[in-house]
Amino acid sequence: MRRWDVVVVGAGLYGAVYAQRAAEAGRSVLVLERRDHVGGNCHSWDDEATGVTVHAYGTHIFHTKDEGVWRYVNRFTRFNHYRHRVLTTHRGRVYSMPINLGTVNAFFGLSLRPRELEAFLQEKRARIDEPKNLEEKAMSLVGRELYEAFVRGYTQKQWGRDPRELPPDIITRLPVRTSYDDAYFDDPHQGVPLEGYAPMFARMLEGVDVELGVDFFEDRARWTQRADRLVFTGPIDRFFDHAHGRLSWRSVRFELERHEEPDHQGTSVMNYADADVPYTRIHEPKHLHPERGLDRPGTLTMREHPCADDDAPAYPVRFTDDLEVLARYRALAEAEPRARFGGRLAEYRYYDMDRVIRAALDASAEDLSR
Ligand code: UDP
Repeated sequence: MRRWDVVVVGAGLYGAVYAQRAAEAGRSVLVLERRDHVGGNCHSWDDEATGVTVHAYGTHIFHTKDEGVWRYVNRFTRFNHYRHRVLTTHRGRVYSMPINLGTVNAFFGLSLRPRELEAFLQEKRARIDEPKNLEEKAMSLVGRELYEAFVRGYTQKQWGRDPRELPPDIITRLPVRTSYDDAYFDDPHQGVPLEGYAPMFARMLEGVDVELGVDFFEDRARWTQRADRLVFTGPIDRFFDHAHGRLSWRSVRFELERHEEPDHQGTSVMNYADADVPYTRIHEPKHLHPERGLDRPGTLTMREHPCADDDAPAYPVRFTDDLEVLARYRALAEAEPRARFGGRLAEYRYYDMDRVIRAALDASAEDLSR
């Protein structure tokens, strides 16, 4: 029976980076992937008719402050100079996100300057010392009107819960800017792989055995026996057969549409803030490659519909109850000496791509030095 030094379950970013490091260190590595492609939710494909590189699971912009991570990913792909900007539509008008001086001035019909914005927001802000939920946190940052316009509806759709039931930290991803700076990220390194993510993953996994369309859980005893070390990147509650109950996950589904015109919405991501619009955002991936231009006819858009789908967990919700359940699964995980649990699903963390890579680099370095 063939054995491997390392069997990695899941070919997303964590699994692929771990596998690459282990293979480079001379270990035999097998990666099992349930889907018919590697790359996890970063996966991209090229549309023949339009030449558009589509991010299959929504727009993924790479951005980092971590020099080591930046050097590492540049071994496998070159990046373009795309800078992410997000617009949002509220009651038929378009505003820029994250909330900045331009958003506030357009929304209230004002022409405030930076130093005036602070005093203006100070008036608006709810005085809450320790925000207990997302609504309180948002209201203490921007006040009721901006919260209701740009955060409440979007958040309700995204998470399927009233923002009063959600943890406050979700919103710390969204800064408030006192200038007209509408850049979504402030990291020194940003971009999208020139040829999309699929070739990047293919290069990372060169020399690694990869089996696609294989569900680890259908034969876990077989795979576990054949591995000296198991790296599990799927949902941690599933690994332990939901012994301590289910963690809350949120999923998304995408509705693809083709358009004859060369440019449909004029930007890569348009958010829809209002609760009565059933989707949260529309992606137009053609705009992720400004270096290719827009002249070629035809474009594609993807409407993003958040949904509950236990079979395709995407976002960890992290209610207080979830964190208690997670602590129990963590204790079980620690009792599995030959297994490593990593990535968004196994760690139940709302991870950015660069943080996932950092975690996989550090974990593999630690394991390989033993
Ligand atoms: N958010 C919001 N309005 C927006 C965009 C985001 O209220 O127009 C909130 C929402 O709660 C969301 C969080 O900010 O879940 C993070 O959004 P982001 O788009 O950064 O997250 P992504 O889904 O891209 O990881």
